[in-house]
Amino acid sequence: MKARYRYRCYPTPSQQFALSKLFGCVRKVWNDALAHCIEEYKAGNKKPKNADLQKRFITQAKKTKDREWLKEVSNIPLQQSLNDLEQAYQNFFKSCKGQRKGKPVRPPKFKKRRAKQSARFRQGGFKVHENSVYFAKVGKLKIVWSRELPVAPSSVTVIKDSAGRYFLSFVVEITPEFLSKTNRNVGIDLGIKTFATLSTGEKIDDPKPLKNRLQRLRRLSKNLSRKTRGSKRYERARTRKARLQAKLKDTRSDFLHKLSSQIINENQVIVLEDLNVSGMIKNRKLSRAISDLGWRQFRTLLEGKAAKYGREFQVISRWEPTSQVCSCCGFRAGKLDLSIREWICLNCETTHDRDINAAKNILVAGGHSETLNGRGGRHKTSVKEAAARETSTPIRIHSTLYQ
Ligand SMILES: [Zn+2]
Repeated sequence: MKARYRYRCYPTPSQQFALSKLFGCVRKVWNDALAHCIEEYKAGNKKPKNADLQKRFITQAKKTKDREWLKEVSNIPLQQSLNDLEQAYQNFFKSCKGQRKGKPVRPPKFKKRRAKQSARFRQGGFKVHENSVYFAKVGKLKIVWSRELPVAPSSVTVIKDSAGRYFLSFVVEITPEFLSKTNRNVGIDLGIKTFATLSTGEKIDDPKPLKNRLQRLRRLSKNLSRKTRGSKRYERARTRKARLQAKLKDTRSDFLHKLSSQIINENQVIVLEDLNVSGMIKNRKLSRAISDLGWRQFRTLLEGKAAKYGREFQVISRWEPTSQVCSCCGFRAGKLDLSIREWICLNCETTHDRDINAAKNILVAGGHSETLNGRGGRHKTSVKEAAARETSTPIRIHSTLYQ
């Protein structure tokens, strides 16, 4: 299986200059080819072939006065850029035809100068040394090997993020290293108040530094919105915000990596609820909190690590009524308002923590639970019986769901 290994790197000012030229060329070739594809599409023609795009926007473009500076950078990242464009189109086409899993893929977009920049080199365009990595027409970039590269990489991407930091991301082929089996399974409920609740009853909150940084980010965003676009002060405020955002991303990644590793280590089967994250982000009140929580990243990490370490990772449909059903007897309590954190089952009178109950149900829905005992089928309670119990219970329940 393929894995990415990422390291920070420190180019000298002249290397930074060479890199910015390279990023510019990669971006230009991508944007030129994309503009051409869009034109062809509007004219009712098919997408031009990758080989034709390569010829037209790299080989021939170099001969024109307009684009002769493309000669000053290595050819490999330029070709890779158009290969990536081809891949982006294929993903989009497959997604349109319903041949691709996951959320719908959008068509490729134009690349912007202010956003994250990258250039990809395959074998032949770079060479790994003891304390540096050599790139054609850029030179030897100083690198800090924070961990060892397991094998020789097949390709490497030079990245400059919007905070101005440089990274090298290597693609290497690794063999999965299966962990010894355990008989522990876990269901995970992701939430806004608590980041994750496990079916074991454990609750995991966001780390404090993350919360503090979120607050500061809100302040900096407000500050930036008051500046005039394009002014010096605007630029300064933008950099400050980008730097904080980069730090925030690191803090969150670190937290999610540690948490996912621990969960994969301790459990054989991991069941997660498929959250409609993009749908939830449309809800503005919750949007800030959710998009910052990194649920999507958490899921991706669990998935990848499960494959790497030989664990079973399962995602259950978000239409399972996980928070509405009693995890002890299977009684349907009906839809609970988000403000209700604790409730008592009308049938078996167990007091439930909303999130822990949901996590237990997620594990059951995945078909892996010890609490299945005595839960043969859904328990039916008559409206009368339920109404009688309701008077003594502190929760509000919509009676339409008792059927
Ligand atoms: Zn119950």
